[in-house]
Amino acid sequence: TMQLFMPLNFLGFVYREIRGAMANIHNLFEVLERAPKVQDSPQAKKLSATQGRIRFEGVSFHYQPERPILRDVSFTVEPGQKVAVVGASGAGKSTLVKLLFRLYNPTQGEVFIDDQKITACTQNSVREVLGIVPQDTVLFNDSLLENIRYGDPQADDDKVRAVVKLAALDTFIASLPDGIQTQVGERGLKLSGGEKQRVAIARALLKNPQILVFDEATSSLDSQSEQAILQALKQAARAHTSLVIAHRLSTITDADCILVLDGGVLVEQGTHTALLQRNGHYARLWHVQQNT
Ligand code: ADP
Ligand code: MG
Repeated sequence: TMQLFMPLNFLGFVYREIRGAMANIHNLFEVLERAPKVQDSPQAKKLSATQGRIRFEGVSFHYQPERPILRDVSFTVEPGQKVAVVGASGAGKSTLVKLLFRLYNPTQGEVFIDDQKITACTQNSVREVLGIVPQDTVLFNDSLLENIRYGDPQADDDKVRAVVKLAALDTFIASLPDGIQTQVGERGLKLSGGEKQRVAIARALLKNPQILVFDEATSSLDSQSEQAILQALKQAARAHTSLVIAHRLSTITDADCILVLDGGVLVEQGTHTALLQRNGHYARLWHVQQNT
C-alpha cells in the first residue's frame, strides 16, 4: 500500500506547489492588463529588504512615447509610514504602483526599495516584499479558506483565523452553512464586491510583506464596512510600510504624507492639514468631495 500512496502524496505536493506559484501569477495579473516583458539582467541580484523604504527618484514613464504618463516624480516613504496617493482618474496612480512592482521599468529615473535599485534586482525578489489589495480581486473556484491561503500556502489555521478577523470577514463566514469551507468563484458562491475586497485584504495580510499597497481597496465598500476595515488595517499596517491609493479623501486624512498627482506630475505633498493650509490642488479636491 505504501507504494500506492507515495505517488498520491507526491501529486498532492506538486498540486500545492503549483497553487503556490499560481497565487503569485494571479497577484500579478490583478495589477496587469497585459503581461509586459521586463527582463531581469543576467547580473540581477536578489532584493534584500528588511525595512520597507520606498524611494522614487526623478521617475518618468510612458506606455507610448507620444504620451508621457509620469513626469519626473520623486518622493520617499520611510519604513512603517502610511503614504497616500491621490489625484483624478487617469492621473497615473496605478501606473506608479506598476512601476513599484517592476511590471515596467521607468523610462527615466530609478525606483529604490531599501536603497537598492529595483531594476538591478530580480522581479521575483521585488514582488516577494510587496503585497497588493487590487482594485479588482479575482477569486478562484475553490474554498474561501484556500482563496485566503493563496497569500501564504503554508499558513496554519490560527494565522488564517487572525487575518479573517482583521479583514472583518469573521461574521460573514460564520453566517455561511459551510463556513470557511464554502466554495466560491464562478462555480460556487458569488461574493459581493465588498466581500471580495475583504478576501483580498485577508490574503495580503497573510502574505505579511514589508510593503502593503492598497489600490482603491475599499472603494466598493459601503462607508460603514469601509470604516471598520480601515480601523482594522490601521492596526495591521503598523508593522508595514503602506501605500494607499485613495478615492475617498476622508479615508486618508491620517496619512503621514499625501502625494497629489495631476496629469502625471507630483504637484503637492504633505500632511492633510498642511495641504489644506496650502489651499492648492488637494484643498480643491477636498472641498469638492465635502460637498457631494
Ligand atoms: P489612475 O490609476 O490614476 O486612474 P492610471 O495609472 O491607471 O491612472 O493611468 C494613467 C494613464 O495611463 C491613463 O490615461 C491610462 O489610460 C493610461 N494607461 C494605463 N495603462 C495603460 C497601458 N497598459 N497602456 C497604455 N496606456 C495605459
Ligand atoms: Mg487606478
